[in-house]
Amino acid sequence: MELRDTQKQLLRALPGVDTLLDALTAEIPEETVPRSVLTASAREALEATRRAIFTGTHPTVDLASVLTLAHDLIHRKMRPNLTRVINGTGVVVHTNLGRSLLAEEALDRIRAVGDRYSNLEFNLATGKRGLRYSAVEELICEISGAEAAMVVNNNAGAVLLCLDTLVNGKEAVVSRGELVEIGGAFRIPDVMAKSGGILKEVGTTNRTHLRDYEQAVTDETGLFLKVHTSNYSIVGFTSAVSVAELVTLGKERGIPVMDDLGSGTFVDFGDYGLPSEPTVQQSVKAGADIVTFSGDKLLGGPQAGVIVGSKTHIDAIRKNPLTRALRIDKLTLAALEATLRLYRDEAEAVAKIPTLRMITMDREETVARATALMDALATLPVTTEALALSSRPGGGSLPLLELPSCCVGITVPGMGASALEKTLRANDPPVIGRIENETYILDPRTLQEGDISLIADALETLVEARP
Ligand SMILES: *Cc1c(COP(=O)(O)O)cnc(C)c1O
Repeated sequence: MELRDTQKQLLRALPGVDTLLDALTAEIPEETVPRSVLTASAREALEATRRAIFTGTHPTVDLASVLTLAHDLIHRKMRPNLTRVINGTGVVVHTNLGRSLLAEEALDRIRAVGDRYSNLEFNLATGKRGLRYSAVEELICEISGAEAAMVVNNNAGAVLLCLDTLVNGKEAVVSRGELVEIGGAFRIPDVMAKSGGILKEVGTTNRTHLRDYEQAVTDETGLFLKVHTSNYSIVGFTSAVSVAELVTLGKERGIPVMDDLGSGTFVDFGDYGLPSEPTVQQSVKAGADIVTFSGDKLLGGPQAGVIVGSKTHIDAIRKNPLTRALRIDKLTLAALEATLRLYRDEAEAVAKIPTLRMITMDREETVARATALMDALATLPVTTEALALSSRPGGGSLPLLELPSCCVGITVPGMGASALEKTLRANDPPVIGRIENETYILDPRTLQEGDISLIADALETLVEARP
């Protein structure tokens, strides 16, 4: 490529790496940024400037402009990639924003077990090797009423592990209305194939009867599988077979029943004026041989897959070599144990587990929070309005449920909703809202302590930066 004289001049004017590094070292307090980061940023800043000169988008070159670029790069490299965000979407179990927030009690246990040795796999009574599940097995059994329990890394893993153990190359009978896709390419037919089991579909999308299961039974049948349609709902002319009915049939024919609850809750939301989700206790009581559910959906704990059921099946699952590949980590286990302990007293669980607290929050509290947010923005040149909208539980649970909420619509004069959304998303910490009817909206239901003043700061910075 033929360079113009001006470009050649600009390239010659570029400072060298060493000059740039010296300038950076002089400006940045010693030991706050590793040398490797300084060097990489200096090189990248020079490279970017050189490219800009080649493409003719860089009219002048001086040390100051390259330095600014290097500082930006350093700032970006030093900032944690996984970072807190402000969830103003009103989606409580937001899969993209980290699902459930942990209770204080859970965070305390993570610290207590994380910076000291623990009895993770050590039986303190015998002085011999112990099982890591023992930290939670009794608790889970106590709360759910199950005979035995274990936990793995997540519920997707739990389902795979259970199918692999129970179906073991035979057929698993599933209703066509329950061939769920959870997202992230986790689909029941595919998981079945991975586990080596054969999927035997019965019934239709909207209606499946007990006789459909009955007629599907052959010598090759290894399992009746029920999958909770946690992220969608089939309404209208429908019928499904209950766990209890399947258990009766299963007992007759010697076929175990597994119930994948997915969102899995210990609390009956019906007691809080919300639609009921099937609880883990109900499934256990109905006699399911194995029940699986997530730790970080409606349970409100850390990411985990909980498996409860009969001792025979849980023992078989423990012996499966896949178990080792899916094992739960000690920090997760610590947080899960603390979360489970809160469930011994349901009122305490609902008050202290953020997911439960936010889902059961009444409209009055969202009004109070919306008012506090509008008050915090009152002195800024922005317009706010209280809007009666709704929040969602999220996380592939209670798909049709809308929680009445008082939201705050925010308008910055001369700025469109999508530009506002983008700018607030680029804030530190990022503020994530939603746009409805071309208005930028924050739902106070999912805001945490201190978030309101951070939002006010973000908006203040935003309006000050505008011409
Ligand atoms: C969410 C879900 C899973 C997967 O659980 P993860 O904890 O996300 O791995 C499995 N089955 C059902 C029915 C679900 O809703």
